[in-house]
Amino acid sequence: NIEKLSDLEKLAVLGHGNSGTVYKVRHKRSSSIFALKILRFDQNSTLIRQQAAREAEILKCVNSPYIVRCHAVFDSEDDLYFAMEHMERGSLNDVLRVRRILPEHVISGVTQCVLNGLHYLHEMQIVHGDIKPSNLLINAKGDVKIADFGASRVIVGGKQDSYETYMGTCAYMSPERIDPERWGGDADHGFAGDIWSLGVVVLECLVGHYPLIGCGEKPDWAALVCAICFGERFEMPKNASSMIQSFVRRCLEKDWRKRGTVDELLDHPFVSQVGCESRQGVADFALSG
Ligand code: ATP
Ligand code: MG
Repeated sequence: NIEKLSDLEKLAVLGHGNSGTVYKVRHKRSSSIFALKILRFDQNSTLIRQQAAREAEILKCVNSPYIVRCHAVFDSEDDLYFAMEHMERGSLNDVLRVRRILPEHVISGVTQCVLNGLHYLHEMQIVHGDIKPSNLLINAKGDVKIADFGASRVIVGGKQDSYETYMGTCAYMSPERIDPERWGGDADHGFAGDIWSLGVVVLECLVGHYPLIGCGEKPDWAALVCAICFGERFEMPKNASSMIQSFVRRCLEKDWRKRGTVDELLDHPFVSQVGCESRQGVADFALSG
């Protein structure tokens, strides 16, 4: 039980994000290790503060083996602190930076974990809203868990926050979030957007770089938006299995109404035909990196 912030002792920096820094910390009495995420606010950042308060509310009621556990939230004048489960092997982004690509059976294991996490969230009427490699964390056992609800929106009575309030990268965002008018995003609740993002992640693990624009191209905002909303086809390695190709196509369907759902994709052969042995795979990849 972490009762107060002073129970924790900082050991190292685990990483930096757009909104703050994550530290490895030790709980003094029990010697247990946690990850402490610190979100710093300036006076004018009401928006970010609201976003963070929402993050805290959501985290408190989330309890799944596929979601990074949040053990405590502390609020100070300028900062918000989240004491989270420590994920020893870092993020999928860290793995990809070292390994560039992953074999299909490892991608399949990762995908299965993410879909299980999304299944849990979507059942709770929670849209994650920011599925990307740095928000998929790996522990020593090779379990992959979804982290970071900074952008997630709880659907209350079918309403959601306006797109304008969304802060963050658009690289993993679906066409209907980037251009709701054209893609009918107003009618959507955002669940399908999480599937799109997963599709981009899966393809990135397969091709070894952000997959929707060419490898050498500068990923500026206009090129990205263009590729996401209008790009007709995406790069697919020649030797990719038909299973992973079909899976990616179901995720990267531009019309969210036709896109695969969590339930459909959990039954997709790319996901359902892998055994648990592929789970250890990702831990090994992270370890040897
Ligand atoms: P963004 O601010 O857009 O979410 P981000 O996901 O990279 O970007 P953070 O969520 O702050 O930023 O995380 C920064 C890094 O810290 C992650 O990429 C990961 O390497 C590390 N990290 C985050 N949470 C944990 C955790 N619970 N256990 C271990 N490492 C973590
Ligand atoms: Mg994050």
